[in-house]
Amino acid sequence: MNATWKPSIEEQMKKRRNRRLLACAMLLVLVGLGSFISSYFFAPEQPTSTEQLTAADIVAPTPTQPAEPQGPPVHTWNISDGDNLSAIFDSLEINQTILYQILAADEPLLALDILRPGNTLTFTMDETGERLEKMALFINLAHQVVYHRVDDDTFEFEDIDIPGTWETQIIEGEINGSFYLSALAAGLSDQETGNITNLFKSRLNFTRDMRAGDHFQVVRSLQLVDGKLTGQSHIEGIRIFARKNSYTAFLFDDGNYYDDKGESLASAFLRYPFKGNYRISSSFNPKRKHPVTGRISPHSGTDFSMPIGTSVLATSDGEVTRVKNHPFAGKYIEIKHDGQYLSRYLHLSKINVKRGQMVKRGQVIAKSGNTGRSTGPHLHYELHIKGRAVNAITAKIPMAASIPKERIADFRQRVDEVIALMEHSHQDLVGL
Ligand SMILES: [Zn+2]
Repeated sequence: MNATWKPSIEEQMKKRRNRRLLACAMLLVLVGLGSFISSYFFAPEQPTSTEQLTAADIVAPTPTQPAEPQGPPVHTWNISDGDNLSAIFDSLEINQTILYQILAADEPLLALDILRPGNTLTFTMDETGERLEKMALFINLAHQVVYHRVDDDTFEFEDIDIPGTWETQIIEGEINGSFYLSALAAGLSDQETGNITNLFKSRLNFTRDMRAGDHFQVVRSLQLVDGKLTGQSHIEGIRIFARKNSYTAFLFDDGNYYDDKGESLASAFLRYPFKGNYRISSSFNPKRKHPVTGRISPHSGTDFSMPIGTSVLATSDGEVTRVKNHPFAGKYIEIKHDGQYLSRYLHLSKINVKRGQMVKRGQVIAKSGNTGRSTGPHLHYELHIKGRAVNAITAKIPMAASIPKERIADFRQRVDEVIALMEHSHQDLVGL
């Protein structure tokens, strides 16, 4: 896929060479801004999210190529280790002011903060080849984000999800050594195994309560687009038979895991990421007018007006997946929680945690601040369920310990389906 594109980039680079003197002069003017953005480092990261398979399983995303060879110039850049956006823009001779405009458009998503080897960027220029009209980030076969130019100094994002199809796979294993090694041997990924141990952490001690010969079953669904794996997967259900006890977890449509009696396995959430009362200065609003730019720009979180230095608490147990400094979001933290939950805390002044660290509900993770593009000291808090930002103030979060009565029949039906798959696990792949 890449091989067919590289020559065209080189050709375009050649054509552009005679414009370099002018570009260099422009770059000199932009040195101040450029060095600011360069100091903001966009290194690719190894995936920390749960939904990762081994690299060999996953087909790299294929950018949609223009049908007409005569169309506007398109540069394609395949992300590899050590790449960062600032350097990529320099290589393509697209000035850093444009990068800054795209980062402003990306603030509600922060998709460009994690560039992984295997991701692809495409840059579509106007007819003259001088002006960037569109940049697209291909995250996987089912997910891309496109940044479109709307005027001379503004871009807007479009977050595109292809639903694809999901296939269910049953994985069975027997304990031989540790649970971790046995799970990997059975075909689960590192992340999936970590998720399972986290999910059962309050109920099962994997070292003490399991012995050789115990077994486990996992129902996993894998996403496909055009018959190719995207790398997205969910664990739908788990049964662990340890000595005389069995332990179960089933993913429900609210993004949470419950045992076969409908009791929640995920740790409860705090509604607010702080102690005390702070006024909401801006609510979650997918259609908000941005207070600084005046343009329509989704507000993916809830803003709480609070003095700089107020303690910020993790709203639930989880793993810190990002500690970043963004020109617009400021210093921020992202935490991945049990089930399909994620939280973000923006515009911080001081961060107390590191990427990869496990945190507890109510733990002080940072001090609030006013960093990035901000109209005053406040905390911007985001809650994501199943990959989408939701209103953290009204969302159904795992506070109650069990499935609500009115949903119990639906839940039972789902458990029966998943168990039936486990019981008929001789087939490897079953259409869902
Ligand atoms: Zn905000």
